[in-house]
Amino acid sequence: MGIPLLDLKAQYLGLKDELDTVWFEVMGSAGFIGGPRVKALEEQIAAYCGTKYAVACGNGTDALFLIMHALGIKKGDEVITTPFTFFATVECIAHLGATPVFVDVEPGTYNMDVSQVEAAITDKTRAILPVHIFGQCVDMDPLLEIAERHGLVVVEDACQAIGATYKGKRAGSLARAAAFSFFPSKNLGCAGDGGMITTDDEELAKAAKKMASHGSSKKYYHDTFGTNSRLDSLQAGILSVKLPHLDEWNAERAAAAALYNELLADSGLELPITRGYGDAVFHLYIVKAESAEIAAKVIGAMGEAGIGTALYYPLALHEQEVFALNGIAVPSLPVAESCDNRTFALPAFPGITREQQVEVVRVVKEALAL
Ligand SMILES: *Cc1c(COP(=O)(O)O)cnc(C)c1O
Repeated sequence: MGIPLLDLKAQYLGLKDELDTVWFEVMGSAGFIGGPRVKALEEQIAAYCGTKYAVACGNGTDALFLIMHALGIKKGDEVITTPFTFFATVECIAHLGATPVFVDVEPGTYNMDVSQVEAAITDKTRAILPVHIFGQCVDMDPLLEIAERHGLVVVEDACQAIGATYKGKRAGSLARAAAFSFFPSKNLGCAGDGGMITTDDEELAKAAKKMASHGSSKKYYHDTFGTNSRLDSLQAGILSVKLPHLDEWNAERAAAAALYNELLADSGLELPITRGYGDAVFHLYIVKAESAEIAAKVIGAMGEAGIGTALYYPLALHEQEVFALNGIAVPSLPVAESCDNRTFALPAFPGITREQQVEVVRVVKEALAL
């Protein structure tokens, strides 16, 4: 009997009656796109994050793109971001013709090293796009201070961080706007794709919403080119059922992380560092092995024991072929590069038992001793 990286079936069974009710109601109503469920979810997410507005869209990738488009990011602009993230973070920049500029990450939190941002600013820089990676907020105050001094806009990629806090405020309310993903494996996941934008900026909210519905604020009247990025009412209904449980699930993830920290203290693995400025929600619990060979050995042993794991991320973004192929200059970023094939996840999902964690640790330590 294995231990998955994430147990979504158990989560479904725990809320089966409520989730099935949503399913049958939506099927029965035949109202599949938009509608009251989507509006209700937007209000719930805005209230949860502490923002004035929330705009639903098709997925987290679109949320990022819609924000950057609404901000007018365009060809020739530079956007400072992190190389240690999912590829979608930089796609939104590249698709607008702008250039991603990477700064290195901090060891242990894997978040953007804010102390390196100022040196990366040029007269083309328009925006900074920090990612709250693995569910821990970036150190936002010094970042916002730099942005303010240079007249730059800051957007949060909060796709892995719903519920995380920074100095008492929730991720999603810490900068001009934020992108969330409801991909099934995220801390708040739906039954397909879904996304959300949060912001206090009414103009930005309106522009993003318009862009998401074919550049139209009045049906069949268009004064700009947009796209199609919608949330299904089924997904919205599912998310509204799950949202009230999110804090409890995030607390369970954090408790699982704390137990691993204790059990693995003497393992020789580099354990995640949490900063004192807020609560991390451990989208993933990431450890770093001393070498890629050791990581491969542990990952192999976990695989054989039926324990879920994966490299996050096998290759930092600035080293991906696509940048060289597109003539984008990339600096050498030693901390991010030191993570290649060495950082991997241990199962730390809500509901994981102490016994399961002890078993994961046993398998990991046995592999490390070989
Ligand atoms: C998941 C994720 C995205 C993209 O979200 P999708 O809903 O899959 O499009 C963007 N950025 C980060 C950091 C993510 O983890």
